[in-house]
Amino acid sequence: VEKTLILVKPDAFARGLTGEILARFERKGLKIAALKQTTLTVEIAETHYGEHQGKPFFGELVEFITSGPLVAAILEGESAIKAARQVIGATNPLEAATGSIRGDFAIEVGTNLVHGSDSPEAGVREAGIFFPELS
Ligand code: ATP
Repeated sequence: VEKTLILVKPDAFARGLTGEILARFERKGLKIAALKQTTLTVEIAETHYGEHQGKPFFGELVEFITSGPLVAAILEGESAIKAARQVIGATNPLEAATGSIRGDFAIEVGTNLVHGSDSPEAGVREAGIFFPELS
């Protein structure tokens, strides 16, 4: 089965949306294979978001993702990557469908509540960053 790494980002955690968000993935049919609450160091954040290094919003992104506790989970299931991204919705919450997490609960792209791996390779790489004890 495919695995995806999702993050309930600090904005969602602070707003008390963790249960709501995890419930949506579970209702979709994805299984929680690992789950933890953690606060990222700048070093781990820069590794996780390595592909965005050099972009104008990189500094802001790292500052935001390290700003408070978050919840990381490995979800597994058939087509887990695509299924999770459908539940999450488009990157810009104003373009995300109603019924998706971002469409229902967010407005700004910088505080869009959730992350989901964008490919099977990214899923494996990101699961290794957040759950090194499992690999
Ligand atoms: P994520 O990787 O968090 O699941 P994504 O794959 O939908 O999101 P990416 O294009 O990988 O989107 O961007 C990573 C994150 O960087 C976004 O979720 C968002 O929080 C932030 N981001 C992207 N574009 C911008 C922007 N123009 N301004 C501020 N933040 C941005």
